[in-house]
Amino acid sequence: MSGKWAVQGTAFYSADWDKAVCIKNGLFCIDEKGFIEGVYKEEDKAYKTVREKYLADGCLKILGETEAMLPGFVDLHLHAPQWPQAGTALDRPLEVWLGEYTFPLEAKYRDLEFAYKVYQDVVKTTLSHGTTTALYFATVDREPSVLLARLCGELGQRGLVGKVVMDDPAANPGFYRDASWEDGVKETERFIDEVLEFQDSFKQRVYPVITPRFIPSCTDESLKGLGKLAGKYGVHVQTHCSESDWEHQLVKERYGVNDAQALNRFGLLTDKTVLAHAVFLEMEDVKLLAEKKASIAHSPLSNAYFAGSVLPFREFRDQGVNIGMATDISGGYSPSLYHAQRQAVISSRMLNEGADPGLPAGSRGRKDSAIALNHAFYAATVGGGTALGLKVGKLEKGYSFDVQIVDYGEGIPRFCPEKREEDLLHKILLLTESRSIKEVWVQGEKVK
Ligand SMILES: [Zn+2]
Repeated sequence: MSGKWAVQGTAFYSADWDKAVCIKNGLFCIDEKGFIEGVYKEEDKAYKTVREKYLADGCLKILGETEAMLPGFVDLHLHAPQWPQAGTALDRPLEVWLGEYTFPLEAKYRDLEFAYKVYQDVVKTTLSHGTTTALYFATVDREPSVLLARLCGELGQRGLVGKVVMDDPAANPGFYRDASWEDGVKETERFIDEVLEFQDSFKQRVYPVITPRFIPSCTDESLKGLGKLAGKYGVHVQTHCSESDWEHQLVKERYGVNDAQALNRFGLLTDKTVLAHAVFLEMEDVKLLAEKKASIAHSPLSNAYFAGSVLPFREFRDQGVNIGMATDISGGYSPSLYHAQRQAVISSRMLNEGADPGLPAGSRGRKDSAIALNHAFYAATVGGGTALGLKVGKLEKGYSFDVQIVDYGEGIPRFCPEKREEDLLHKILLLTESRSIKEVWVQGEKVK
């Protein structure tokens, strides 16, 4: 869209950690750059005159009776190259899954034609599920990683992309790793420069991300080098952290401390760092994250398969750590953050109550661990935006107009009126599938 325009209709968004807001028949005004410049409720004095002006100018979009607008979701952790194996081999342990399935697949992206085909599908698919911002791991090779960033730009997604670093010859297969630690760092710097060069040619922008795969796959030298780059460029950082018993234990043996502490020593824990999983953090790690304003990408589906454990979401959040939602394609099988939110609530309730019927009730779980759907919705929108330092995830003045328009007349039973406004939001969050997401907009541009 060029020029100013407005949308009239019902919208939901998360105003605060446990408070979802419903604006019935609101007026959302969007400026030329794709930011929300004003929101009017029906009862506001200016509502009528503002609406009439946009209507007269032919710049008013009116939502249908069973349509609602939600902020676009922020997927804080997914592997674009693993999309072809989504739903595959989730019964194998992490180290086997990586060696036998994942690394051979990721190596294929040196074939840029293959990369183009898959990456285009990943971006289109996630957009169609309402994901307007995505923080991607690409592969160890720079060229296809740059291609992914460019495709995000062209297809209208706010993509944050990392060329993966995995340089330790003792930990990675010969056919799939950085040639040396120097190479891993140099290629990352070149990747950052290349993406920064075209970053602004897309309205929604795309971003380069420093991406050590995880500590066990990197040497101290490469971690140190990447930490220096983080200081030099101030760009985002992402990695896997305290994900599984195996990985967590390995780092402990190597450094005598947990991942978070080790990453901090290398200069990789900043307010633009996103740590995938972080299930096994101990309290001093949690405090360090809160102090550094680093965030957690919570992938409950993936955790169920590979962590064998549940993130103590509520407890970590109460300690001041920001948490966003993630699909973790393909450690998680679904590209939909709706599914991730549902699983986050389910997993947290099982952590709270416990799951072993052989134990007496009351002694099965970890008390005060349950989160509600409103919390998961907050994480999938505001939590993600906060993690990345971007004005996305809310439908308020100054935020990017990143939205999904859902037709809740499809697939959602509505024979009786809802008792509370948020009852409808909860139905939408629990029952929406991608076919009823009718439109997706990023930075004021229609992408679905
Ligand atoms: Zn991952």
